[in-house]
Amino acid sequence: MKAALPLSVPRAPRPRIVRCRPRGAIDSSPNPTMGEIYSVNTALGYDDIFLEHGMPDHPERAERLRVIMQRLEETGLADQMQRLPMRGASVEELCWLHEESYVEEVRALSEAGGGDIDLDTRATARTWDAARAAAGLCIDAALGVYDRSVDNALLLVRPPGHHARPHVGMGFCFFNNAAFAAEGLIRQGAERVAIVDFDGHHGNGTQEMFYHRGDVLLISIHQRPLFPGTGTVDEIGIDEGSGATINCPVPPHAQDIHYLRLFDELLLPVLHMYEPEAIIVSAGFDAHFRDTLVQLSLTARGYFLMAVGLLTAARDLCDGRLLMVLEGGYDLEAGLPESVEATARALMREPEGEWLALESQPHREATLRVEEAVEAIIEAHRERLG
Ligand SMILES: [Zn+2]
Repeated sequence: MKAALPLSVPRAPRPRIVRCRPRGAIDSSPNPTMGEIYSVNTALGYDDIFLEHGMPDHPERAERLRVIMQRLEETGLADQMQRLPMRGASVEELCWLHEESYVEEVRALSEAGGGDIDLDTRATARTWDAARAAAGLCIDAALGVYDRSVDNALLLVRPPGHHARPHVGMGFCFFNNAAFAAEGLIRQGAERVAIVDFDGHHGNGTQEMFYHRGDVLLISIHQRPLFPGTGTVDEIGIDEGSGATINCPVPPHAQDIHYLRLFDELLLPVLHMYEPEAIIVSAGFDAHFRDTLVQLSLTARGYFLMAVGLLTAARDLCDGRLLMVLEGGYDLEAGLPESVEATARALMREPEGEWLALESQPHREATLRVEEAVEAIIEAHRERLG
């Protein structure tokens, strides 16, 4: 049976959120064209509190943010971005999407000095404060992008969020940051918000939170097989959410060209069908070819081009409202800092930089497998979406 995208939601006038435009902010063209010269007011969400969660020998460690910030400062990009204030999400806000017993468990574990959620996911003494700061920043930044206080935003938060399920955290994640950005907009009156997740792992927590809802579209490209094991093309949502979950599970060794084909032939057309009022990105950078947690073969240039594609879609569909939320990415030497720099440059309409090219081409058989899988993914969704 064909499950249609929930496109028939009647559009009500968008409520005006009363927020002040920061002094000195540049008012960009309401309908800019890529390539035109104009100023973009890109916000940067970062706070030192995000360094205080976790352990130095864990792959998801504070050093990740240090190398990213160092790169953004060295390149002069950080100075050109407007810094966003940090605010910890309240328990009430956290309970929008998580069960209260789980929220209280994270708080209790932190207050006790730390403890395990699962084998990969350990709360430390400062996890509670860092995780709710990440969620709060995402909520506020989404509202800032929505009301055009800023044009778009890059949120460098940790702990990451897209594996966090309603009742439990997992996979290094505690509270689902990108999901809170979407939920915050819905609660402010938005009727359709899109989440694009290009982290190398499937964002199972985000999918679970919105699986039954038509007001949040989730499109995910991720490696399969890989943790957490979910994210097949058959997982399309249920009830009002039927058709509003689009999974693109690619085999190991997928490269930029394969991701960009999925963008051109599936992801961007689906966004145009859905007409979101904002696009939120679960921006994980572990699909970079140097990252050892995932076996994908993207480059920083691939991330740059994906961000340009999303920016163009946001321009065409929702006045440029685009929010990038950091998820994974573990190659501290080059993969992570280069890919975040590439994303920042795209958001700011800066020219691309010089980044590492793929060091060696994957074996031809592996590439053929990827090509066949991408073809099958596009066909499966095309048939369903019409
Ligand atoms: Zn990941």
